[in-house]
Amino acid sequence: MTATSDEELIRMRQLKSSLYEPKLMTPLSSEIFNWQGSDASEKNKILHVRNGLTFTPYAFARICNANCHFCSENLERMQDENPSSKKKMNSYPTKRIKDYDQYFKGLEKSFQILDNIQKEKGKLNMGLSLSGLEATSEPNWFQRFCELLERYPDLFDEKVLYSNGSGFALYAQEVVDSLKNLNFDRIELSRQHFDEQVNQKIMRFEKVQPIRLNDIYENVTKNVLPPLFKVVKNSCILTKAGISNIEQVEQYLEWAINLGVKRVVFRELSVIGEEGYDNQNKTKRWIDENRVTISSVLSQVAPTFSNVRKNFNYMFTTIGYYYMNESYRYKDSIDVIFETSSYDALASSFDKYPNVVNKLIFHPNGNLSSDWEQDSNIVGKFF
Ligand code: SF4
Repeated sequence: MTATSDEELIRMRQLKSSLYEPKLMTPLSSEIFNWQGSDASEKNKILHVRNGLTFTPYAFARICNANCHFCSENLERMQDENPSSKKKMNSYPTKRIKDYDQYFKGLEKSFQILDNIQKEKGKLNMGLSLSGLEATSEPNWFQRFCELLERYPDLFDEKVLYSNGSGFALYAQEVVDSLKNLNFDRIELSRQHFDEQVNQKIMRFEKVQPIRLNDIYENVTKNVLPPLFKVVKNSCILTKAGISNIEQVEQYLEWAINLGVKRVVFRELSVIGEEGYDNQNKTKRWIDENRVTISSVLSQVAPTFSNVRKNFNYMFTTIGYYYMNESYRYKDSIDVIFETSSYDALASSFDKYPNVVNKLIFHPNGNLSSDWEQDSNIVGKFF
């Protein structure tokens, strides 16, 4: 969507994901994933798969080598059936991938099913979104995953790696070799500040990770990534501890332009409601205390549609099922996106659009689900 007036811009900012309307859907019988649900009400239901959905092989072969204060994988949800007891956080050590042979057999089976669906029913315009914890932190897993992906060249219309960049420094040879035939469209490179020490205070990389140093990070960004990815995009979370105002946003953008980065997204920390999560959890408390709202920054970039800050050009607004973002072009050299999202909106999308599959996540326990929690909204079980 593109706003053409003050009223439209303000309406989109205020109503955000509530303006979302799902469009193209492909109906599929749930039987196709060989999963009949755990009770009778789930049997033979029709799933409505959103065209343009993403597929995430949740990368947890090893615990992440950073420990970002805001890492959503360390949040703790409460049990639906027993709200006084907690589910294990996604980064809990026992949740990692244990048996690679079993894991890759299951993952390949899910690829085959999706490949057949697309051959029979037409393209789902599905994107690969490789995220979870840090995919490049375990080079053997990463290599096996890339080999599998090479065997399914037509499965995904877009391939994106979400990474803190660590493997491109510590295991450069293995990680670069694994990726070289895959033609990834984009890497979303997480970096929270242009100052190495401020960045380290937020991301808390292990001391042995060379990527925590700006010299190494800058070399990786400028020289190692461009031959492997069509677009290098930075992802920076707005926080009181890091980037929090428009002057810092501009300094970050100047730094990114010098490194050849083509796009930067500044994200507001997700709004997590009071219900459903453990409010005493350290990560949740840090998030609540350090949130910088996207509206405070947008009010400095474009207080109104006709009053946009020097060097910024408004491009368009995207409304998703639990997020909203505004895109700008800065100094005619880099795309800048300001994004906000809400866990409550994500949760309510499951109630509002039952059986709509907006996203598929293949979890380390072999569950294919449309939720970040391995045992919620299961679509198929692969071991
Ligand atoms: S790099 Fe990503 S997965 Fe690792 S701690 Fe930070 S947010 Fe979490």
